[in-house]
Amino acid sequence: MFGNAWHVATLFKIPVKVHWTFLLLIAYIIGYGYSEGASPKVIAIFLVAILLVFFCVLLHEFGHALTARRYDVETEDIILLPIGGVARLRNLPDKPLQELIIAIMGPMVNLVIAIVLFAILFIIEGQQIFTNWGNINENSFLSLLPILIQANLTLIVFNMIPSFPMDGGRVLRALIAMKFGKLVATKWASILGQIICVGFIAVGVYTQNYLW
Ligand SMILES: [Zn+2]
Repeated sequence: MFGNAWHVATLFKIPVKVHWTFLLLIAYIIGYGYSEGASPKVIAIFLVAILLVFFCVLLHEFGHALTARRYDVETEDIILLPIGGVARLRNLPDKPLQELIIAIMGPMVNLVIAIVLFAILFIIEGQQIFTNWGNINENSFLSLLPILIQANLTLIVFNMIPSFPMDGGRVLRALIAMKFGKLVATKWASILGQIICVGFIAVGVYTQNYLW
């Protein structure tokens, strides 16, 4: 799965790779926008939005990788896929608390980004952002700000789902390990993860929202 990724950069001595299927995503967006009659400018805004969202995903992964480095855990590489990113750590830290901090620092990066962007948007647009959220400067590059804020909040919620391999699952396992030890933690985290997974499928089928 990770084999066909291009090495695009090395940052903080960590190779950053992009999976080739990324090109499919970009081709799909251009093709879809064109077939829906969107103007080149709107398509360009959307492409920039996607690239910026994945830049936020990259920063999220560096949140994990650079925190791990503080505990002498090195990162093999960071790979960006159309469905998200992954920082492949060489090993896990000894202490559950360290694992917890490494897991939580990814979503923390997105929280900081969301707060900073919200502050910028508020400074530029003032009070109207509260009443006019959906239509802020439609079709201009300023409309990227609300999109990016929402994307970062979505990344936090999605990653904190307490199920493996999401960050929330790692946090949950670390919390159980701190109280009951590692063996119990791995067992219970996997059982809880499966229950939550089944729950998601049930909600998806019930609400007929198959994207779930
Ligand atoms: Zn993460």
